[in-house]
Amino acid sequence: MTPELQAKLQACNNLPSPPGVATRIVDLANDPNADMKSISNVITLDPAITAKILRVANSPMYAQRSTVETLRKALIVLGLNATVSLALSFSLLKSWQSKQDSDGLDYELFWRRALLSATAARILAPVAGVQDAEELFLNALIQDIGMLALTRAVEDLYIDTADMQLHQERLIRHERSKIGTDHAAVGGWLLKRWSFPNRLEQGVAASHSPDRVPKIHENGKFVRCVALSGLFAEAYLNPKGERHFKELATGALKLLGIDKNQLADLMEVMNEQIPTIESVFETKLIDNSSETILEEAREVLMLRSLRTLQVVDDLHDKAAHLESRTRELEESSQRDALTGLYNRGYLDEFLANAFKVAGERGEPLSVAFADLDHFKSVNDTHGHQVGDQLLVSVAKMLEKNTRSADLVARYGGEEFILVFPGTDKALVAMICERIVKAIAAETYDFVEDGLSVTISIGYATHGEHMSFSSIDEFVHAADTALYTAKMEGRNRSVEFQKAS
Ligand code: GH3
Ligand code: MG
Ligand code: MG
Repeated sequence: MTPELQAKLQACNNLPSPPGVATRIVDLANDPNADMKSISNVITLDPAITAKILRVANSPMYAQRSTVETLRKALIVLGLNATVSLALSFSLLKSWQSKQDSDGLDYELFWRRALLSATAARILAPVAGVQDAEELFLNALIQDIGMLALTRAVEDLYIDTADMQLHQERLIRHERSKIGTDHAAVGGWLLKRWSFPNRLEQGVAASHSPDRVPKIHENGKFVRCVALSGLFAEAYLNPKGERHFKELATGALKLLGIDKNQLADLMEVMNEQIPTIESVFETKLIDNSSETILEEAREVLMLRSLRTLQVVDDLHDKAAHLESRTRELEESSQRDALTGLYNRGYLDEFLANAFKVAGERGEPLSVAFADLDHFKSVNDTHGHQVGDQLLVSVAKMLEKNTRSADLVARYGGEEFILVFPGTDKALVAMICERIVKAIAAETYDFVEDGLSVTISIGYATHGEHMSFSSIDEFVHAADTALYTAKMEGRNRSVEFQKAS
């Protein structure tokens, strides 16, 4: 984004912003210790949101045997993460939908596209192997939020763009030619400002250019679901446009390997869910009946252009084959063979980038150096093979206790380095402490009498109260803190302190 545009956005005093409840929900989403009680306390503050969550929990999307009458029960039925995502969806939609200007944007169309995308994204979750379907729903719903900011900050940007709103590839080109960037980038920037979880920010920023996030990246699938959801929405909004079905079919194949038959099945599921979404969100989503749309789609997909699609299929088969081969190679060169964690080569690359980005954005970056305690004696007592198994288990625990935006790498032997982008001192302290506790509490049953092990961690934060001039110096600081942790008795985490 150009500095001029950024200044303009910053100076704009009516940018969309999350309402109070949403801000508190985001805080909870970022807090690894948030529990059911704290979440339900915040959500109950808004009775309208609570009512909507109950409606979703009782809808056919979550077929229940008994009626869900309380938020507590809904939390159990939907799960913590899903409830948080839904609550955010409702609260953002409620506050943003009410603002209507006459600035060229077709707001009704905007929200129909948003909700159709969200519905599609939710359906794509199981196909893509993304766990949290409601998080995808939320992300697809807010993927175009950058447009609401741009229309306020850049006068006349959306005059005469109604057609382009139905086909956003064109809109994106229009934006880039006018302001040198697009609403996806601006949306990502906004979410970052509001401290939304990293994954959501990434999903929005890459919603029109998913290839920016490698497929093998933790969020690779997530980002592709969001991008594809927009094509679904456009196919539903342009039911007469053969072209949109073709684009959808091509996109589905390219982004997630979904073939035509699977696509038709997915559209059928979507048709079933549209009435529920329409009723929960009190918005009409499609003009024609969804049956008609499905028929049109079938015709386009199956009959009329079978041959052209076949050619595209073949091309994609070839590309997919090449790509999976490249991916395997890439993957093996980035991963440690024993634990499957990232290796030192990838760590160096990731850390260099994270260090640079932290500097540019003025955000904190934390790094932790972890080393198993008395590991030599595990090998000596139980043999090298058990030692190896233990390393694999510990690697899993480290991954489980970090977020997807963080990096866990095996530095060598029984030493690991963890990188936490955008994470300040207080948060990294909490995460490291959680890891120390979790590892000490675990008993590994691949040894007959059960085996346990402890870990020591040293960590440092760059860019908050302290700045490091190089990555070496930064990592060395974490290593120094690790040494202190060992000296102070192991099984603990210690923050780096500058010698005074
Ligand atoms: P400290 O608490 O001071 O860290 O004690 P330690 O025994 O863990 O430390 P030290 O660095 O002296 O020993 C590390 C041991 O880790 C040495 C080696 O036997 C073991 N080790 C290193 N890499 C591997 C591996 O890939 N597999 C197994 N099984 N053991 C390994
Ligand atoms: Mg060691
Ligand atoms: Mg050790």
